[in-house]
Amino acid sequence: MINREQCLAWDKEDQLSKFKDHFALPEGVIYLDGNSLGAQPKSATQLAQQVLTQEWGTDLINSWNTADWWGLPTRLGDKVAQLIGADAGETVITDSTTLNLFKVLSAALNIQAEQFPDRKVIVAEKDAFPTDLYIIEGLINQIDKDYQLKLIENNDDLSKHLESQKVAAVVLSHVNYRTGYFYDMAEINAEIHANNALVIWDLCHSVGAVPIELKQSNSDFAIGCTYKYLNGGPGSPALLWVNPKHQNRFWQPLSGWWGHQQPFEMAQQYQPSQGIRRFLCGTQPIVSMRLIECGLDIFLATDMQSIREKSLKMTDLFMQLMQQECSAFNFNLITPEQHHYRGSHVSYRHEHGYAIIQALIARGVIGDYREPEVLRFGITPLYLKFVDIWDAVQHLKEVMMHSEWNNKKYQVRGTVT
Ligand SMILES: *Cc1c(COP(=O)(O)O)cnc(C)c1O
Repeated sequence: MINREQCLAWDKEDQLSKFKDHFALPEGVIYLDGNSLGAQPKSATQLAQQVLTQEWGTDLINSWNTADWWGLPTRLGDKVAQLIGADAGETVITDSTTLNLFKVLSAALNIQAEQFPDRKVIVAEKDAFPTDLYIIEGLINQIDKDYQLKLIENNDDLSKHLESQKVAAVVLSHVNYRTGYFYDMAEINAEIHANNALVIWDLCHSVGAVPIELKQSNSDFAIGCTYKYLNGGPGSPALLWVNPKHQNRFWQPLSGWWGHQQPFEMAQQYQPSQGIRRFLCGTQPIVSMRLIECGLDIFLATDMQSIREKSLKMTDLFMQLMQQECSAFNFNLITPEQHHYRGSHVSYRHEHGYAIIQALIARGVIGDYREPEVLRFGITPLYLKFVDIWDAVQHLKEVMMHSEWNNKKYQVRGTVT
C-alpha cells in the first residue's frame, strides 16, 4: 500500500523538486493539464515587461536589430534543437503546428515525386489529433494529383500499407494526444525507410515530455507545439525541424519573404534561403515568440533523462493509486502500462468522464476531457510533486464516492472543452 507519507518522502529526495519554484502556479491548484497549456515560467512576467516597455515601447523598430527580433526563429530553434536531438541550424520556431505540417508535408511529397512519382499514398493515424488529418485532406485537395489518405489503427496496418510500395509519406504523433501511446521512433523510421517512404513526426505531446533523438533515429521532418510541455505561453509559435539532407531539396509552397535568401533586397522573384530559414513565411508574432525562451531556459538547465525518469515514476504512481483507491468506480485505463510505449500523461475512459473532470476542477484539480469519454491527466515533472498525485487521486475518490459529478452544473459544456 502506498500512503501520503511515502509520497512526501519521494518529494524530499527528488532532484528536480527545486524547479517548481521557477513556475507561477496559483495556490490550491493541482495542475494536471500542462500537456495542453504549460504553466507560466515566473521569468515571463519580467521579460514581457521588458519586451513591452523597452523593446517595443522605447526602442521601437530598432529592436529588429538591437533585440534581434529578426533572429528569433533560428535562435530559439537552436535551443529547442537540444531537446529533440538535433544540431544547430536545423530547427525554426515559427507559425503553428498546423501550418508547419502543411509546409513539411508539401516538401516531403515533392521530394518523393522526383524519385518515386507513382507513390500517391499518405498514411496517418485514425486517432491522430484531427488538425493533422484536416491538413492532409486540405493539401490533397489543393494539389489534386490522385493522392490518397490512408488511415491506420495500429503498427500492423502501417506495415501493410508500406509493403504496398505506394506510400510517399507517413505522418505520426510521437505520443498520442488521447491515449499517451509512445512510438519507438528509431524502429518505426527504419521500417518506413526500408520501404522508401518519408516520415513526419508530430512532437506536440512528446517535446519536453520524453527524450527525443530526431537525428540519431534518422527522422525526416518534425513539427510540434511550444505552448504545451515547453511552457511557451498560449498560442506561442511552433517548432519545425528538417533533416539537413532534405533542407535544400525543395522549398515549401508558403514562400513568403521571411524565407527569401535576401529578404531586404525586395526582389521581385522568390529565391529560397539556403537551409532551414526557407521554412519561414512572413512576420512572426514577436511578443508571443519572445516569451518562449523562458520555458526553454528552464529545460536547458535540466536534462530530459531525469525528466523522463520522474515522469515514469509519476505515471506509475498515478496508475497504482487509481487501482488502490478508485478501483470500485469503473475507470478504464487506456494508456500503455509498458514504459517503452508510454508518454507523459495518463488517460482513463469513464462514461461520466466530462462531468467528473468538471467536478475535479471545482476542487482545484485541473485535468481535461477528450472525446470520447476520456479523462486525461498530464504529468509535468518540473512543477508537480509526488504528493500532488496522491492528493489528486484522493479528490477523484471523493468526487466518485459522493457522486459529486452528478450535478447539472457539471454537464454544461464550455466552448472549449
Ligand atoms: C495540440 C496539438 C496540435 C495543435 O496544433 P495547433 O496548430 O497549435 O493548433 C497539433 N497536433 C497535435 C498532435 C497536438 O497535440
